[in-house]
Amino acid sequence: MSPLASKLAARIRAEGPVTVAEFMAAALGDPEHGYYRHRNPFGVQGDFITAPEVSQMFGELLGLWLAMTWHQTGSPAPVDVIELGPGRGTLMADAWRAARRIPGFTDAARVTLIETSDRLREVQAQTVGALIPAPRWSDRFAGTAEGPLLLIANEFFDALPIHQFERSAAGWCERLITVGDGDGGLDFTLGAPLPAEPPYLPARSKDAPPGSVWECCPQALEVVGEIARHLEAQGGAAIIIDYGHGRSAVGDTLQAVKDHQYHPVLEDVGAADLTAHVDFEALAYAAKQAGAAVHGPIPQGVFLRALGIEVRHRMLRENATEPQQVQLDAALNRLIGADEMGTLFKVMALTPEGAPPPEGFEAHV
Ligand code: SAH
Repeated sequence: MSPLASKLAARIRAEGPVTVAEFMAAALGDPEHGYYRHRNPFGVQGDFITAPEVSQMFGELLGLWLAMTWHQTGSPAPVDVIELGPGRGTLMADAWRAARRIPGFTDAARVTLIETSDRLREVQAQTVGALIPAPRWSDRFAGTAEGPLLLIANEFFDALPIHQFERSAAGWCERLITVGDGDGGLDFTLGAPLPAEPPYLPARSKDAPPGSVWECCPQALEVVGEIARHLEAQGGAAIIIDYGHGRSAVGDTLQAVKDHQYHPVLEDVGAADLTAHVDFEALAYAAKQAGAAVHGPIPQGVFLRALGIEVRHRMLRENATEPQQVQLDAALNRLIGADEMGTLFKVMALTPEGAPPPEGFEAHV
C-alpha cells in the first residue's frame, strides 16, 4: 500500500468511508503525499503529456489569442492575466514570448499563477522568472483579479475533485471509498440511498438504468461562477481547455494515469494522476447563471486551426532540420488530430454578456 493509501485507510477506519471527492482531493493535494505535491507529472519522464508540453505552438497561439482578445476588449491597462493550474509554466512562457510581439499587451499585463503545489510553484518560477516581470502566485482564483481579466485554464478543471453517484436498485447512492474486508486495501462501496436525485442530474438522465454513474464537480462550478461574476463586473474573457463532454451524461470517467498508462484508480494512491472528464454543459450553465456569455465549447482541433496552427507549423518547419520536421508533424497531429487531442479536448470561452465572440469562436456561436 502507498503511504497515502495507508493514511486514508487509517482515516476511514476512524471516521468512516470517504466520498470520491475527498479521495481525489487527497490523492492529488495531500500536503505530504499528494500527487501534485511530490511527483513530476509532466513530459516523457513524467506520467502524461499536456498540450503545452507537446509543442510550443500551443502556448504561442494562446498568447496571440490573449493579445487579440485584449485588443478586442479595448486594450485595458493594467489587465490581470491569470492562469489556473500552470503545471510547469510552459504555456505561460510560450504565450508571453508570442504575445510580446503585439505592442502594449505585455506592458499592461499583470500575471498571476493559481497553483496549490509549492513544488510546481518553484518549477513555474524557473520557467517564467527571466521572462515575465514580477509574476504573482495565489492558491485560489477568488479575490486574485482586481480589474479586467484574461484567464486561461488548460487541463485544470479535470483535476478538481468530483462526486460520483450510482443508481442502485434502491435508488441513487453516493459512491464512497472504504477499507476492504480482505487485505485492508481501499475499495468502492455505496452510501445510503439519497432522499432525492443527485445534484445537477439532467432530466434526460433521470431514468438511467441501474449501475449508471452520475458525476458532478461542485468546486469547478464554484470557480467558473466566480470567474463569470468577475468578467461580468470588470470585463475581459476566459478560455477553458480540457478533455470532456459537451453535453452532460451519465458515465464513470474517473481515471488514473501513471507512466503514460491507464492505472487502477485505487492503486498507488498519490503516485498516479487522477482526473475526470469535464462536463462542459455544467460549466456553461454555471457561467450563464452567474451572468456571463458562453462561446463554444468547440473541439480543440477546430479552435487551433482557426487560430492558424497550420500556418505556424509550416513556418517552423521551413527552418527545421529533418528530425525536427518529423517532431513538428507529430506534434501538429497530436494537438489537432481527430483521434488524438483534436476532438476529445474542447475549448470554451466566457465573456461578459453581449460581448462579441472572441477570436476562434466567431463561426461557432
Ligand atoms: N496547465 C498545465 C498543467 C495541468 S495539471 C498544463 O497544461 O501542462 C493541473 C495543474 O493544476 C497542476 O499545476 C496542479 O498542481 C494544479 N492544481 C490542481 N488542483 C488545483 C487547485 N485546486 N488549485 C490550484 N491549482 C491546482
